[in-house]
Amino acid sequence: MADMVGTELYTGAELAGAAIFAAGAASALTTNEQRTTTGCATHGCSGEGRYLFHGQRACSRGCLELLLRAAVIEEQARSTAAALRARPRVLLGRILIEQGTINEVQLEHALRSQRATGAGRLGCWLKQQVELPEADFTAALSIQWRCPVFRFGNFAPARMASYLPRPLMEAHGALPLRLTESPERLSLCFEDHVDYELLSATERMHGVSADAGLLTATEFWQATRDLLGVRFPRIQEVEASSPDTMVEAMGRLLIASGAQDARMVAVHGCYWLRLWTSPSPSHANGIIAPEPVAWDILCTPRTGSNFNSDFSDTQSDESARTVEHLTAAMLCVLR
Ligand SMILES: [Zn+2]
Repeated sequence: MADMVGTELYTGAELAGAAIFAAGAASALTTNEQRTTTGCATHGCSGEGRYLFHGQRACSRGCLELLLRAAVIEEQARSTAAALRARPRVLLGRILIEQGTINEVQLEHALRSQRATGAGRLGCWLKQQVELPEADFTAALSIQWRCPVFRFGNFAPARMASYLPRPLMEAHGALPLRLTESPERLSLCFEDHVDYELLSATERMHGVSADAGLLTATEFWQATRDLLGVRFPRIQEVEASSPDTMVEAMGRLLIASGAQDARMVAVHGCYWLRLWTSPSPSHANGIIAPEPVAWDILCTPRTGSNFNSDFSDTQSDESARTVEHLTAAMLCVLR
């Protein structure tokens, strides 16, 4: 029954995501020639492709793990590049003074409080100590982060909940505000900063361009409340002792779940794997066409970011037991 409800709720956005896969969204893992074939996408393998990941096929669990490992390495590079994107060069306090919103004495007072406690953003101290109109504060932030202040309207939380898993939304203070059409662009909004790494990961996951912008604090929390009141795609947060263990677990899960396709992106050391599964068997009877249902897995490997240099050495008893346990736990929730 849960699957049936899920199908109704997730259909629009998830089908859009599935369509992106069907069209063979850009991936650096394989060539255009390979993407159009049904053979195994790993180099030098002539096996028949059975398991789908990033629009590519793998013939076996070993080959699927090779695709996953390549994706992890590529995602590490992409998330690092996104994190290096320009940070604000102008201090918020200077912008507020230039705007005439605060004076030098008020800025110095707030900075002293911040230094004395060693905590809190400057903006929080200023809000506490100065009568600071919310719109002026957000306008100053938009100058600092060189991004627009979004209009709060046309917000459809039930539709937007599938664009960002709730734990990532809450951890990084972001929320998907709307999707515009022709051209298709996603608006990702923040309250007091812009997380470019998250913005970039969201673009890669959905295969659409995304714009970052701000909402005033009141609007941001209103939107957050609205969004938390609707149903998100199913999610499972799992722990893995290393990237190797994570890849093994993900490979087994992709095979065991019969995923129709999957995609993975990295953000702040967390790997967000979204897989699309068939709905409940009652739908797959040939009368009602099965529709893909999204399922999110979040995993932050506990140790390091590098793979074991000797891949064959990773099949230790302890590692294998961890993978068995993880896979069983995930499938238990999936079914
Ligand atoms: Zn193969």
